[in-house]
Amino acid sequence: MTVYLVGAGPGDPGLLTVRGAGLLGSADVVVHDRLIGRELLDLAPASASVIDVGKVPGQPIRQHDINRLLVEQGRTGRLVVRLKGGDPFVFGRGGEEAEALAAAGVRFEVVPGVTSAFAAPAAAGIPVTHRGVSASVTVVTGHAGTPQEPGGVPGAADWAALAVTGGTLVVLMGMAHRGAIAEALLAAGRSAGTPVAVVHWGTTDRQRVVRTSLAGLAAVDLPAPATIVIGPVAALDVHVRGTAPTGAP
Ligand code: SAH
Repeated sequence: MTVYLVGAGPGDPGLLTVRGAGLLGSADVVVHDRLIGRELLDLAPASASVIDVGKVPGQPIRQHDINRLLVEQGRTGRLVVRLKGGDPFVFGRGGEEAEALAAAGVRFEVVPGVTSAFAAPAAAGIPVTHRGVSASVTVVTGHAGTPQEPGGVPGAADWAALAVTGGTLVVLMGMAHRGAIAEALLAAGRSAGTPVAVVHWGTTDRQRVVRTSLAGLAAVDLPAPATIVIGPVAALDVHVRGTAPTGAP
């Protein structure tokens, strides 16, 4: 049997792929992350074993243990769905899981998902590229912070280089280090007025959006999970508007 590394999408259960839904529907075992739409688990048969390996801050489950669990489950011959938030290969450590399965000789298949890097901005009315406004988008983790700050990790993103490429920056896992990230971009010459949007729980009914500028990013008070969009597109809001509320002009 095969272990399927399935992208669950950004949160709205409707954004799971048809292939992902089909596999979930015939799963014997579902191994899932914390940030997945809970409704998705209802797609699995009632008889399926559901294993939550969500890494709760403070009680980390080591990636090594998850890898080992997937190898063990894969060897049982049951149909294993490893359900991961967004796309499995975008900051999801799906690549490491795939490598561990390959090294153990367990067959696997990757089922891509809709990444929050693009879907969360879209849900807030922000196209990550836009003709005449932004010709590129870079997706970067803010988890490692900046190399200079306390808690920053060597090998963190080269924010100075990212500041000069222009275009759109989409920062995942960036809220803890948002102040240092903004500072690093400003120090490297990105302008203080650069539009910024922070999208919390995009695509779900818990979605909240804060619009600000690079100068205001440090003061944005939204909890994780949140996606930070930096660049001129962050000022766009391309929602189709319904009829104006009663009393509005
Ligand atoms: N593989 C995932 C990303 C995993 S990293 C993907 O492709 O989407 C986890 C980070 O993704 C969070 O810290 C947050 O920055 C972002 N994220 C995940 N779900 C989100 C959502 N619904 N809205 C906004 N950001 C989200």
